[in-house]
Amino acid sequence: MAITLPELPFAKNSLEPYISERTLEFHYGKHHNAYVVNCSKLIENTELQNEPLEVIIKKSAGNASMAGIFNNSAQVWNHSFYWNCIKPNGGGAPTGKAAELINKDFGSFEKFVEEFKNAAATQFGSGWAWLVQKDGKLQIMKTPNADTPMVHGAKALLTIDVWEHAYYLDYQNRRPDYITTFVEKLINWDFVNSNIE
Ligand code: MN
Repeated sequence: MAITLPELPFAKNSLEPYISERTLEFHYGKHHNAYVVNCSKLIENTELQNEPLEVIIKKSAGNASMAGIFNNSAQVWNHSFYWNCIKPNGGGAPTGKAAELINKDFGSFEKFVEEFKNAAATQFGSGWAWLVQKDGKLQIMKTPNADTPMVHGAKALLTIDVWEHAYYLDYQNRRPDYITTFVEKLINWDFVNSNIE
């Protein structure tokens, strides 16, 4: 099973002015692609080379001698997931099951937004903030570098990439502005709903 770079689910200029075509040329075309190329090289001629991506991630997690494989495979997955979490004309309040479970587990959409933004803003250095389903409820997580919820017994529902490469060309050091724009203009709630178990 080859590790591949998936097609973006939207046109590269369709998230403007919130995420520029130039950001996507680098973030998708260079960074995401490099994780795919590196992961493929690292698993070549190993017992993992024909395994599905999620198996590669789970088998390499927590194994220091496989750190390169974990970092690159998890970053392939995280980025493919992230592109599906955003769309043109997205953002705002959720619908369907996501709306229902967010109200149940956070108290209100506003409270969810506060916790999600706080996790994204306070992830020190590179990483990700997530809405996950774990132990039967929705929760906020943040993970450093390539780390990913599936190796912590959690099902990812939504993520925001807070590596500087995700926002620096458009927002420079203003990570909070990128996070607010992500919530208000970009979240694909249909995709979030499709992930709820
Ligand atoms: Mn990234």
